[in-house]
Amino acid sequence: MNRCLELAAQGKYYVAPNPMVGCVFVKDNMIVSEGYHRGFGMPHAEVDAFENLPNDINASECDIYVNLEPCSHFGKTPPCAELITKIRPNRIVIGAQDPNPLVSGKGIQHMVGAGITVVENILSDECMGLNKFFYSAYQNKVPFITLKWAETKDSFIGRLENDSSNRKISDQRNDAFVHDLRASHQAILVGAITLTQDNPLLNVRYSDGKDPIKIILSPNLSIDMEASTLKIGHTIVYNSKTSIKKDNVELVLLENFTLSNVLHDLYQRNIHSVLVEGGAKTLQHFIDLEYWDEIIKLKSSESWNDGVPAPHLSIEPNRKKKSFNDIISFYNRS
Ligand SMILES: [Zn+2]
Repeated sequence: MNRCLELAAQGKYYVAPNPMVGCVFVKDNMIVSEGYHRGFGMPHAEVDAFENLPNDINASECDIYVNLEPCSHFGKTPPCAELITKIRPNRIVIGAQDPNPLVSGKGIQHMVGAGITVVENILSDECMGLNKFFYSAYQNKVPFITLKWAETKDSFIGRLENDSSNRKISDQRNDAFVHDLRASHQAILVGAITLTQDNPLLNVRYSDGKDPIKIILSPNLSIDMEASTLKIGHTIVYNSKTSIKKDNVELVLLENFTLSNVLHDLYQRNIHSVLVEGGAKTLQHFIDLEYWDEIIKLKSSESWNDGVPAPHLSIEPNRKKKSFNDIISFYNRS
């Protein structure tokens, strides 16, 4: 099962909104085939491992291990539970059930009904932890929310409007970490003020993986539609004025503009994870309403003496680590 998790993790940047899944076939206590879900729309892990099985090995003499319950519905590929019942392995060992109501327990039922031996809940915490975005989104019907910001030693998150001093706060050597966060989330969200004042690109430059979908909150549609961020990738602008889709920018009207409505709409779009990067007002809004699952704060070793105050958090981090000249604090909601 540990090997399944290692294999699954290789799909990290490419499978969303699907989960990361790895699968191994074992015969006489030896792994004889491996597979994983490589990307959205590509074969599932079980199919991949089955196809990789050497011709001289009979699949029905193997134990199959997979970190997630095999699917039971016809999605982009035929259901894997069906494949398993055709293979008729010695047994199948499953890490954790699938939280997707289309599958949840039905894949297992299908196989048990066909007389297959199914072993469940092996390393289930690790299996659910690897796909925490996927599990959390199905459980809460809103995306997994990560809040991330960098602040100075004296707790400023940005320069004042007319201050043209250097705006960079975190240690440049932590950019790869921050961009890995961007690439691991399906979407990145900022408020209108951040877009207007900082004109950030919000893409992935210092990590593998693809650019997240950009989400802008602009109730009055006050943003500059010519901003360079809007020229690349896919952007959704939530507002209370109009709905139009033009090129790669989608304006989405919310009659009742609340964060809750934004999050529910994102979930409906199959977005299971959102990284909120700013600014101070938007982050504070998420904190005050307790709409977050994880907070990642980078604190630099420099002081600015003035600037825009960082969001206020009244809780202690679950863990902290020194990373180059920054201290990174992690807060998790249990
Ligand atoms: Zn499947």
